[in-house]
Amino acid sequence: SMSATIIDGKAYAQGLRARIARAVGELSRQDVTPGLAVVIVGEDPASQLYVANKARQTVEVGMRSFQHKLPASTGEAELLGLVARLNADPAVDGILVQLPLPRQIDAQKVIEAIDPAKDVDGFHPINAGKLMTGAPGLVSCTPLGCLLLIQSVRRDLAGLDAVVVGRSNIVGKPMAQLLVGQSCTVTLAHSKTRNLAEICRRADILVAAVGRPEMVRGEWVKPGAVVIDVGINRVPNPATGEGRTKVVGDVAFEEAAGVASAITPVPGGVGPMTIACLLRNTLEAACLRRGLALPPVDAAGS
Ligand code: NDP
Repeated sequence: SMSATIIDGKAYAQGLRARIARAVGELSRQDVTPGLAVVIVGEDPASQLYVANKARQTVEVGMRSFQHKLPASTGEAELLGLVARLNADPAVDGILVQLPLPRQIDAQKVIEAIDPAKDVDGFHPINAGKLMTGAPGLVSCTPLGCLLLIQSVRRDLAGLDAVVVGRSNIVGKPMAQLLVGQSCTVTLAHSKTRNLAEICRRADILVAAVGRPEMVRGEWVKPGAVVIDVGINRVPNPATGEGRTKVVGDVAFEEAAGVASAITPVPGGVGPMTIACLLRNTLEAACLRRGLALPPVDAAGS
């Protein structure tokens, strides 16, 4: 009984990267090649994979990729020293320090050491503050990707009721701010929220960024709502054999797809948008630092 449009984040991200590649090509005529520096500390295999993907996609859109792999034993002062050098390096437009960092390093201190003009993750308090006050700045990649996917199915969001479940600094809070910026009436829910199901049922736009497999049920979804599932949860999948796992979102997909007008799948929804938006932010940082306007990469042009 599935009726919803499945929002294809993989295809959207591919189109976004193609538009970024075209814009980078045009910038090269002005002798500008945007550069992204990615710093990884330690051997976490998931982080290694993210960083390898980021580097590959950076090069694919014509940007320069600088990788800095540091041992797990790296001290905070050493990492702060590297960040200072990258801040000063004119070839570097964007700096991303892959999280999580080892225990001996204060991640917040490192985030605050990054030049806000190069903070392509949008985690620096200056950029968080700019988002809150409606000033132009770099916006956290995952919520930015979510907004682009929402706008791909619903052009004008003004006056709609939006509910964001999850209040992390990297997803939930900036997501809520972006929706306020689109003139939605926004509710930001979290683990202490009462009557969560009832609150979700009011949402024209429902964003789940919780980290709990399939927590949002079909009955929580307002008929016709747009549902964005940020969750990435690895769960056992006995159907494919003992010890096998699969990835599910924070939304019970089949149930919700029977009620919503549009919904993102997991995988293939929000996930692919995050790196594409990182490249978009690197392009934006490169343009802003040179006083150039960001080319119109966000929406498919005419
Ligand atoms: P956090 O763990 O930082 O935040 C989770 C939020 O969910 C918290 O605000 C928490 O509330 C809230 N929460 C937890 N349990 C409940 C509950 N039972 N009811 C209501 N709210 C609850 O997670 P992140 O924001 O970093 O990530 C959320 C999910 O998105 C994860 O699955 C993560 O893997 C995924 N993710 C995906 C990305 C991508 O697609 N590229 C990028 C980033 C994240 P409280 O604050 O009260 O504790």
